[in-house]
Amino acid sequence: MEKITNYINGEYCEPLSGMWIDNYNPSVGEVYGKIANSNEADVKKAYKAAKAAFPQWSNTTIEERSRILLRIASLIEENLDKLAHAEAEDNGKPLSLAKAVDIPRASSNFRFFGNAITQFSSEAHESVGLNTMNFTLRQPIGVVGCISPWNLPLYLFTWKVAPAIAAGNTVVAKPSEVTPKTAFLLGEILTEAGLPKGVLNIVHGTGPSAGQAIVAHPNIKAISFTGGTKTGEHIARTAAPMFKKLSLELGGKNPNLIFADCDYETMLEVTVRSSFANQGQICLCGSRIFVERPIYEKFKTHFVARVKDLKVGNPFDAETRIGALVSKPHMEKVQSYIKIATEEGGKILYGGNEVTVEGSEKGYYLQPTVIEVYDDQCRVNQEEIFGPVVTLMPFDTEEEALSMANSVPYGLSSTLWTSNIDRTMRVSRKLEAGIVWVNTWLNRDLRTPFGGVKASGVGREGGFEALRFFTEPKNVCIKYDAQTL
Ligand code: NAD
Repeated sequence: MEKITNYINGEYCEPLSGMWIDNYNPSVGEVYGKIANSNEADVKKAYKAAKAAFPQWSNTTIEERSRILLRIASLIEENLDKLAHAEAEDNGKPLSLAKAVDIPRASSNFRFFGNAITQFSSEAHESVGLNTMNFTLRQPIGVVGCISPWNLPLYLFTWKVAPAIAAGNTVVAKPSEVTPKTAFLLGEILTEAGLPKGVLNIVHGTGPSAGQAIVAHPNIKAISFTGGTKTGEHIARTAAPMFKKLSLELGGKNPNLIFADCDYETMLEVTVRSSFANQGQICLCGSRIFVERPIYEKFKTHFVARVKDLKVGNPFDAETRIGALVSKPHMEKVQSYIKIATEEGGKILYGGNEVTVEGSEKGYYLQPTVIEVYDDQCRVNQEEIFGPVVTLMPFDTEEEALSMANSVPYGLSSTLWTSNIDRTMRVSRKLEAGIVWVNTWLNRDLRTPFGGVKASGVGREGGFEALRFFTEPKNVCIKYDAQTL
C-alpha cells in the first residue's frame, strides 16, 4: 500500500512518531494508502532542517531564488497529467477540473511569485529639511509555517509556500491529511528543481498532532493558514501569547445578488458554476442566491433545469461535472444540513439525495441540491455547508438584498449581477466582503489582494500582500549633515 511520507531536508522519511493514518479514495470509498501521522518530534526535525537552511537561502540572490521557483513551475507543468490524476484520486474532484484549474494554478503560483520577487524592493523616503534618509528593509522572517486545507490541495499549498520561499524564508508546511498526495509528489519536483535541502519541509499528519505542533513551536515565527473558521480561532489563541504573525484565510457563506437588469444568460451559466464547481467545495462558491423578485420565478425554473443536467459521476469519467465529496464524514455533515433545511421549512427544489455511481458504489456522491428558503436567518442560510447545496430567496429592494447579504458572520466574497453602473458602485462599496465580483465569478489576477473580513479571516494574501506578509519591514533612518539638526 502506498505510503505518504514526510519530505524533510530534501529527503523522504518515515515519521518519527511511527504513526500512520488511512488515505481514502473518496470516489470509490476505499483506503488506498497510508499517511504519516507526524507529531511534535517530526515538526522539530523539520524545524531544525529549516533553521539550518535559512542563513544561506535568505542570502541567495533574488535572481537565483527566482530561477528555482520558475524551474519548479515548469516541472509542475511537465507533470500535469500525473499530478492531476493524483489530485482527482485523492480529493474526488473531476479529473478535467484538476487538469484545467488546480494543477495549472499550482504552477502559476510558483511562476507568479518567482517573477514578483524580482519586482519587490525596499522603499526609500528622503525627509527634506530634516536631512534624513529613511529606507525600509523587507527582510525574510525566518522559519515560517504554512497549513492548508483539502478542497484545492496543491493549489492552496503552493499559494502559501511559493511566496514564503520567494521572500527568502524557510518553511515547515503541512497539507491536509485528507488530501496529502500532490504535496507529497511535489517533494520530487523540489529536488529536481535544485531547491536547496531544508528550504521547504513537508510534514504530513492530522491538525491536532502535526498542525498544532507547527503553530505551538516557539521559533516558527509566522503562520499562514487556510481552513475552517473554528480552526483559525484555535490557531489564533495558540499563537497569540507568542506574538506570531498570522494570516488566516477562513470559511465563507458567499452571496450572489442577482438584479433583473443583468445579462440573464451569462448570469445563469456562471451561477450554476459558482454554486457547484468542485462539488461546492470552494471557499468562494456562492452558496446563497438572492434574486430580484421580477425575475425570481423564471430564474428558479431555469436554474433548476440546468442543475438537473449536471452529471454526477466518477472523477475520471470525462462527462462528470460533479465528482465525489471529499470524505464520508464531510458528506454526512452536508446531508445533515439538507435535513436541517427541511426541518426549518425550506423546500428542496432539486437534489438532496445520495447518488450511486455504477462501478463506484461505495463512493461519496451527492446530488447538487437547491433549496428555497423563506427566512434568510435560517441555519442553512447562515452556516457554512461547504458542499453542493445552495439556497434561493427573492428580494424586493437593493437595501433588502444588501442587508441579507451582510447578515452572516462571514465576509469572504460576493457576486453582483447588474448592468447598472451606479448600483455596481453603491452595492460594491457596501458589501461586507474581501472580494466583490461584478458580472463574473472566480476571476483572479494574482496581483490582487485575496482574503476575507469578519469570520472569513485576518490579513490578505496574493501579489505583494503575500510578500509583505512573509517579510518583516524594518525602517532605517540615516541622518546626514548632522550639524544641521
Ligand atoms: P480545517 O480547518 O479542518 O483544516 C485545515 C488545515 O488545518 C488542515 O491541514 C488541518 O489538518 C489543519 N488543522 C486542523 N486543526 C488544526 C490545529 N488545531 N492546529 C493546526 N492545524 C490544524 O479545514 P478543512 O476542512 O481542511 O477545509 C475546509 C475549510 O477551509 C472551509 O471552512 C473553507 O471555507 C475553508 N477554506 C478557506 C479558504 C480561503 O481562502 N478563505 C480557501 C479554502 C478553504
